[in-house]
Order: sequence, then C-alpha cells, then structure tokens
Amino acid sequence: MIVYENRYDVIVVGGGHAGCEAALASARMGCKTLMLTINLDAIALMSCNPAIGGLAKGHLVKEIDALGGEMGKNIDATGIQFRVLNTRKGPAVRASRAQADKQQYRLRMKWVLEGQERLDLKQGEVTALHVEDGQVMGVDTRGGVRFQGATVILTTGTFMRGLIHIGLINYPGGRAGDIPSIGLSDQLRDIGFAVGRLKTGTPARLDGRTIDFSQLEAQPGDDPPAPFSFSTDCITRPQVPCYIAYTNAKSHDIIRSGLDRSPLYAGIIEGVGPRYCPSIEDKVVRFPDRDRHQTFIEPEGADTVEYYPSGLSTSLPIDIQWTFYRSIKGLESVEIMRPAYAIEYDYVDPIQIHASLETKLVRNLFHAGQINGTSGYEEAAGQGLMAGINAALRVQGKDPLVLGRNEAYIGVMIDDLVTLGTREPYRMFTSRAEYRLLLREDNADMRLRETGHAIGLVPETEYLRFSEKRGRVDAELERIHSAKILPSTADPEFLAKYELSGLQNAVTYEQLLRRPDFSWRDLMPLDATVTESDALIWEQVEIQVKYKGYIDRQLDQVARAKGVEGARIPEEFDYVALSGLSTEVREKLQKFRPDTLGQATRIPGITPAAIAILSVALKSRG
Ligand code: FAD
Repeated sequence: MIVYENRYDVIVVGGGHAGCEAALASARMGCKTLMLTINLDAIALMSCNPAIGGLAKGHLVKEIDALGGEMGKNIDATGIQFRVLNTRKGPAVRASRAQADKQQYRLRMKWVLEGQERLDLKQGEVTALHVEDGQVMGVDTRGGVRFQGATVILTTGTFMRGLIHIGLINYPGGRAGDIPSIGLSDQLRDIGFAVGRLKTGTPARLDGRTIDFSQLEAQPGDDPPAPFSFSTDCITRPQVPCYIAYTNAKSHDIIRSGLDRSPLYAGIIEGVGPRYCPSIEDKVVRFPDRDRHQTFIEPEGADTVEYYPSGLSTSLPIDIQWTFYRSIKGLESVEIMRPAYAIEYDYVDPIQIHASLETKLVRNLFHAGQINGTSGYEEAAGQGLMAGINAALRVQGKDPLVLGRNEAYIGVMIDDLVTLGTREPYRMFTSRAEYRLLLREDNADMRLRETGHAIGLVPETEYLRFSEKRGRVDAELERIHSAKILPSTADPEFLAKYELSGLQNAVTYEQLLRRPDFSWRDLMPLDATVTESDALIWEQVEIQVKYKGYIDRQLDQVARAKGVEGARIPEEFDYVALSGLSTEVREKLQKFRPDTLGQATRIPGITPAAIAILSVALKSRG
C-alpha cells in the first residue's frame, strides 16, 4: 500500500445521498475531509425515482435543511415539479415532494462539493478499513493507496456485494452501470458485524418519444411551487407535468405468465425487499382482485426523453417487460431505454451502532444510509448529515449530537434503527413518530435551526433570517391575543359569513383563528398588515393557535418522559451483575447495549419491571 501524504479528520466512503451530506457537514464544521467514491460522475445520483420528498420524507428534507444540510437547496435549484401532498389533512401529515431534473441534481451537488473548503474529492473503491486496536485509522483502496483518517464514515448504499437481477439472469453491480463494492462487507463480517442481505428494485426507464401522452391524464404541479429550503425565496425553473396511467387485466396476465422466470418467485433472490414499495409482480400476486394499478409517468429531467413509471418496478425478464409495459394505455408503442431490475446487497444490522451512528465494534467508524438497512434518498441524507456532524464533533473532542424522538423525524429514524435493528428495508412514515404534531414540516426550522447554528452548520445570514421569522411569529401570537374586531363596526357581510352578526362583544383574532372554518387569510380584509408576503409567518401563527390543545398535550407527554429518555447507561454497564432481571431480558440488554434508559424501553421484550430495576441501578451509581 502506498500511504497518501495527507491525513484527514474525516474520510467519507461513498458519494451518494448520505455521503454528500456527511462530507459537507464535516467540512463545513471545520474538518479536513475526504470523500472517496467509486465514480465521481455518479455523485448524488438518484438510483431509483427522480424525486425528493413525499410523505414523511419531505419532513426529513426540511429537517436536513434546518440543520444546515444541502438536500433541500439542491432540489429547489433543480426541481421541475413541486407539490404539497395531503393539503386537505392536518398540518402534521402535510408533505412536500418534487420531481428532480436527475442530471442537474447530481451536477449541482457535485459543484457544491467541489466548492466546499477543506473537502477533497477522489475517485476510488475502498476495499478495506485500516483498523488498529479496535479503532479505525483509515481506508485502503483497490488502487493500492492507503488514506489515513481520524474517523471514517461508510455510506456504501446498495453497492456492497451488489447483485443485479433481470429475470433469471444476474450479475454483480452496485446499481445499473456501476461496479459493486467487493471486500468491504467481508471484512466487516470478520470484525464481528452482523452483515445481512436486502433487496430493492426499480422500473424500466421509458422513451418519451414513444409514449402517447394524449392517452394519459396530465398532473400539473402546484402554482406557485413551494420551495423545500427555508433559505429559498422562490422556485425559478419552469415546471413540467407528470402523467397518470394504469395497468389492466392484460398487463396482469402478462406478469403472471412470467412469474416462473421471476428471480423473486424462483427463489433466487434471498434478500428481503421493501414491503411498502413492492414490485408490480408482487402487487399482482398479493392483490389478485385488483383490476388495475396506478402509475405516475414522471419525467427524468428537462433535457431528456427518459420517463420513470413510478410503482412499476420489476425484476421480470426483459421480454416480459417489453410486452407488459406496452399493455398499458398510452404506452402501446413504448421503447424501453433502460430495463427494470432488482438488486441485492449487503447491509449491517444497525443495532450495532450508537445513536451517534458510530459503530459499537470499531471506534471512530460511523455508518450512514442504506448500509444501515434504510431505503430512500432522504433517509440516507438525514443519517449522512448526522454522521458527518458526529464525526466532526468526535474530532473536536465534543459530545455527539443525538436528536430526540420529540425533536425530529431524523431522531425517530435513528432511534428506531439503533434500538430495534431492521430485517427489511426501513423507510420513514409519519406513523413511526409518536409526537407527530410537534414534528411538522412547517416548524422544522423552529425545531432545529438553533441547533444547526450552534454546531456551525447554519451560516449567520440564514440564522438571522430565521431569528427574524421567529420574532415575527412571536410578535403576531402576542398581538392576536388582544387584536379584535368589534361587531358594531365590522363589515356585516364578514359577520354574517362567520355567524357573528348577533354577537355583542368584541372577538379577538385568536378566537377567530381557533375556528376550524377560519384561516389567517380571512383576516386580510380586516387588517391591512396581514399580507400574502407574510404567508409563512401567518401559517405558523395559525397552526400554533388552532392546534394548541393537542400540541400542549404532546409537550406534556415529552416532559413526563424526559427523565427516562435522558438517563444514560454507561457503555461498560454490567447487566450480568444486575439481580432481578430474567435471563431473556439480560441477554437482550447485553445484545442491544442501549445508550439510554429511553432506548431500553423500546427494545422488544424489555418489561417495565426491568426498566424499573435498571433505573434504580443507574441512580445508585450516581
Ligand atoms: P447510494 O446512493 O447507493 O450511494 C452509495 C455511494 O457509495 C455511491 O456513490 C457508490 O459509488 C459509493 N460506494 C459504495 N461502495 C464504495 C466503496 N467500497 N468505495 C467507495 N465508494 C463506494 N429507494 C427508495 O426509497 N425507494 C425505492 O423504490 C428504491 N428503489 C431502488 C432501486 C434500485 C435498483 C436501487 C439501486 C436503489 C433504490 N432505492 C430506492 C434506494 C436509494 O437509491 C437509496 O436508498 C439511496 O440512494 C441510498 O443512499 P446512500 O447514500 O446510502 O447510497
């Protein structure tokens, strides 16, 4: 091995969505950082759907942005269709989603990385970690170079021993067009990590010149499009539509006719797939009574004819793919540009990492993204950001940053992973969060901007902008408490509309905003200071007023759980010496080694009685 002359504080292995956030975070926090990745042209490449956000994933993007990450800004600059989902539902589940111009997304992210001080980018496949006395010291590449680093973050995605399946044909690959990562996961297994196998799949990419769009239902984006990032003023790129199409009985017959050559049904694929994102053959088999399945035909970019048929991922043989896609109305003459495929890959059970994302087996080694068993760009980016932050904090000799389940979806995700582990691809859902009303998209900045600024990721200008917004929200909350309309002087039409005509006493804005049928925009005719340009401020005010009861209740629950959540369990805690625990509970605690009493409560099979014993033992240690 030739040892490279520079020594890094942080080495990030992988240039996917986790790797990009990790590398930017550590470099922005002052650490000399190296990103090593197999192909520099594939930085931030979207392996599957050309879109960012969606239900619960939009929350993650807003949180990443609030903490000072890049994903939100990147999609704002390169998005070609923005929509807010669930607008008719409560604020907790509203979620932003945007189609990306896939190539522009990756190019801009690479450009941001290249412009980042203290960050070196190098192409190379890491084949081994350099570990001494249980501590990582650097990495070795296939090209025979050793890079030395105080900390290493592995973000290998779907690449470790990646195996691509199309029908009964399979071949090694990290994803279509990329080589796999060989060697690394064998070493991880030798070290003692529980390395498992997962699977995911993607649809074919279709040639838009051969799609009859007149037969499809166009779905436009929102007008005006709402940005993801708290720092973006407005979206400037032209917006394009997506299209809706449906499979039919003929499509399903074709799929069934190919099942004997499906690697999934022939038992060739051993990895566990994502249950919430099944392949089309899975859907047809599992729901035989459904006569059609919807698909969104999504553009891959403004400068390409490639389209992504969302929801139609498959690993069926190519001849079945040809006939199946062409059985769909509007796609009768469609040409496939890239075939659909499934991929199996190695991941490491995340119960072997701390909530800081540092591994329990190798000091200063962090894991983030798909390597931890998650699926999705946003999940990966959220972990990458936290791993980058915590690697930098380790280098600076500071305590790790761990977000609570009451603070962020990122906190919920990491807590789920490290306390429960995962046997199937994990993706974020709003239902995973117990404090949903506190963890809204709209208040991600209120929850996390301060933290992002304190660790040095949110620049001063962005922080000032946030402080100003927070000040305005507080001031308006104060004002609406006393600002009122007098029934005697108010517009009779307004009074009639809100059934206030017979009222004798004044009504405060706050009382009005509490009403389910009254929105802050209804204040505009009454008060010239309430304007559309302050929409974000008023939206915040309205939500805080309307949902105050529910929010207070959740805050109460958080306060009550605080003692348990915060009680730290020392790493060397001796569960064997603790009397009163059943053998099963003792074994579980030894296996999971929770960092806090809060984590211990969430390990399946750990009883309240065991928690009480543990709690007393921790208190007696002082
Ligand atoms: P990736 O984006 O995979 O990036 C990994 C990076 O690490 C790459 O840059 C790679 O070159 C680099 N790398 C790997 N090993 C090494 C090494 N040894 N040395 C140096 N560099 C290395 N997500 C969904 O949410 N829904 C889906 O339906 C879905 N379907 C998918 C289908 C397919 C076929 C694939 C490939 C992915 C799919 N995904 C899906 C997953 C999504 O792509 C990932 O969740 C996301 O990209 C993970 O981000 P990451 O940063 O962890 O890894």
